[in-house]
Amino acid sequence: MKAMKECGECKEKWEKKKIKRINKKWVCIYCYRKRRDKNRDHILHTVAGVRRRSDLEKGWRERSKARKEKEQKELGPMIPGAKQVKERIKKVPALGLYLTKVEKEVLVKKYVSNGMEYHKAYAKLKECMDFLYQLIQRLREKGKSEEEIDKKVKEEYANLMEED
Ligand SMILES: [Zn+2]
Repeated sequence: MKAMKECGECKEKWEKKKIKRINKKWVCIYCYRKRRDKNRDHILHTVAGVRRRSDLEKGWRERSKARKEKEQKELGPMIPGAKQVKERIKKVPALGLYLTKVEKEVLVKKYVSNGMEYHKAYAKLKECMDFLYQLIQRLREKGKSEEEIDKKVKEEYANLMEED
């Protein structure tokens, strides 16, 4: 009969070579292994977590850099193009309820196709939108319904499309 020791964790009795004393406690080699593996998993997870975090930060830095470069590009010389149109349309008074972005783009494209330079076309669009915006305000003050206002704006838009 060999001397048996009780494992402090699984409470099983083990012969001496299968159990060791760790921090004043008897722990069998199986519980010890389990504990060690758990610890290792924890470390791996943490290290991986750190790596994931730094990957994320790298991603953020790259995206932020790309965004700055994009902004810089957009501030640079004006190149006619769809992207440019979208960016500039945003700066024109919002009449989103009545006119879509596409309708505004169509207006700009019409001016450009009539030989107007892009920056002038945008300035003209802005004027038109200011005019429509004020029209809307006036109609609202008069207590017109949204439907009536919408109809009026569409009419004015049609007029803008017809004139040069
Ligand atoms: Zn054990």
